[in-house]
Amino acid sequence: MSTGKIRNIAIIAHVDHGKTTLVDQLLYQSGMFRQEDLDKLAGGQHNLVMDSNDLERERGITILAKNCAIDYTDPETGDVSKINIIDTPGHADFGGEVERVLMMADGVCLVVDAFEGPMPQTRFVLQKALSYGLKPVIIINKADRPDARPEQVVDEVFDLLVDLDADDDALDFPVVFASAKNGWASDEPGVTGENMQPVYKAIINHIKPAEFDATAPLQMLITTLDYSDYVGRIGIGRVIAGTLKAGERVSVVTREGKITKQRVGQIQKFKGLGKEEATEIPAGDICAIIGIDPIDIGDTIADLENPVALPPVNIDQPTLHMTFSVNTSTFAGQDGKFVTSRQIAARLEKELQSNVALRVSPGNSPEEFNVSGRGLMHLGILLENMRREGFELASGKPEVINKIVNGKELEPIENLVVDCPSECQSSVMAVLGDRRATMTKMDAKPGAAGFVHLEFTIPSRGLIGIRTRMLNATQGKAIVHHSFSHYDEMRGSIPRRKNGVMIANEGGQVTPYALDALYDRGFFFSSPGDKVYAGQIIGEHSKDGDITVNCVKGKQQTNVRTANKDDASKIRPAREMSLEACLEYIQEDELVEITPNFIRMRKRILVESMRKRDTRIQSQKLKAAIENEAEKSGAK
Ligand code: GDP
Repeated sequence: MSTGKIRNIAIIAHVDHGKTTLVDQLLYQSGMFRQEDLDKLAGGQHNLVMDSNDLERERGITILAKNCAIDYTDPETGDVSKINIIDTPGHADFGGEVERVLMMADGVCLVVDAFEGPMPQTRFVLQKALSYGLKPVIIINKADRPDARPEQVVDEVFDLLVDLDADDDALDFPVVFASAKNGWASDEPGVTGENMQPVYKAIINHIKPAEFDATAPLQMLITTLDYSDYVGRIGIGRVIAGTLKAGERVSVVTREGKITKQRVGQIQKFKGLGKEEATEIPAGDICAIIGIDPIDIGDTIADLENPVALPPVNIDQPTLHMTFSVNTSTFAGQDGKFVTSRQIAARLEKELQSNVALRVSPGNSPEEFNVSGRGLMHLGILLENMRREGFELASGKPEVINKIVNGKELEPIENLVVDCPSECQSSVMAVLGDRRATMTKMDAKPGAAGFVHLEFTIPSRGLIGIRTRMLNATQGKAIVHHSFSHYDEMRGSIPRRKNGVMIANEGGQVTPYALDALYDRGFFFSSPGDKVYAGQIIGEHSKDGDITVNCVKGKQQTNVRTANKDDASKIRPAREMSLEACLEYIQEDELVEITPNFIRMRKRILVESMRKRDTRIQSQKLKAAIENEAEKSGAK
């Protein structure tokens, strides 16, 4: 196979627009599936290729870019080309990851739903791609939909690109209309095709093949990390110059410029859905390299005698911080397999091997770890993965990480996009009212009558807790997305959670009778039959200030109130709280307890009398500090 014919394309798509189906189909029609993959497909398993992490799929985003490769044979000329397809992280929280992925690409493929049109979340990645001069190929997918409006969607893509300052070359994009699900594509809107050939053709004809000098001194840039228990850290990147050979001695130049001489172990190239051992990789291709230790993002694998480092790559700095600690609730150890601080430490250590934007440092006690990452979703996914692996742990309130620049404190600001029915607009504004949001755009939503499209900038800390409130205020009708934008001056104070919580005063099983008696006090997070412990948060108080309540008492033990006979049917249903919703909800004196089968919220201090004592001590300290300040300013 000639080395001049490698195309590396980054694929960009909004969730559900059919990226996975498209890549499956492209692999399938090029004959790249192994029999076992075909068996899986026949068994109804969707999603063979990318988004391999269940959670990423549930959240509809990709965090860690994954690669696959297609050998495409032109049916007319018989020419073989290799197409490396690189998945892009779907979320702007991972800007550094996006940049690094795009550095490996020669062009991008934007997949857009033929009815929905381009969505705001793809904007960020697309903008980056354009700024790197990458040529877009547009695939209008789901062209088979009865409600498809392909021509209008092409216009919307054009408008989006204009909006993103695309140059004339990018605006002259090729368009293919496809039904990935049915395995066809066509160059004309409204015409049903026969196979996926128009997609391969658009890529081959419009994305220039990577041209590099395979005889120059070696240079390969490590842009992604992987980890395996057997071989340790694996570096992935593109060979930019020269040829990388298995077993050869090379110089490794770190981001800081430190040079070590090392021997390359195995090298692997991408083939279909997997990797295949290779003896050499020519410039232009992407590969995985094993046996270099240490290896890190931004390292250049260079010629042994003439090491020349490639320009440095951007690594995301953490924006959010949380403490992870050993589960100390009354139910600790009842549900999980891994519960000790040693086990948690080892798991975090392993995660650090490939999770580039994650930082971990020791906490206030050996039972506690300070964990920082790229936002609630990044850390939420780690917690959720740990829980599914059998871990038990507790997490504290997430805190935004501010930056000091030239002596000034700057805070992270995010772009917030809300799409909602027009009648919900005032509720959305009410939720955002005291959160220092600034409206930047308001439009009617194209293609969806009666909907409005609102854009804001808002401090990251204003977003914490917003999701639940927004859903409640709009009865779940608002679609909310946010992504990191930049750091800016502090925008002033934002009120804390207004409501107090209902705290169980004793452990046991929640009864319908007890919940009925608490009907007027607020809403519940627990349902009849749930097991709770003293100090657990079982609901939200309708007023400010926490209250302790008895949610486990049975009817015979009290005559306070004559309950309805069929009280179970009158109980207000418990509010479902996802892990991220819980993390957004809690305050400093509260924790989220995470175990394989349960997510609960609790007070840090479980015993009521100790909680009261702690509150007294805290308020005394505060009073003393205020008096101290007053004295100081009086003395001046
Ligand atoms: P992803 O989230 O972008 O990876 O999207 P998926 O590939 O998972 O597809 C999302 C949904 O759209 C699935 O239910 C697919 O079956 C469906 N889908 C994908 N391609 C097409 C298509 O061409 N036509 C129609 N009608 N549905 C499609």
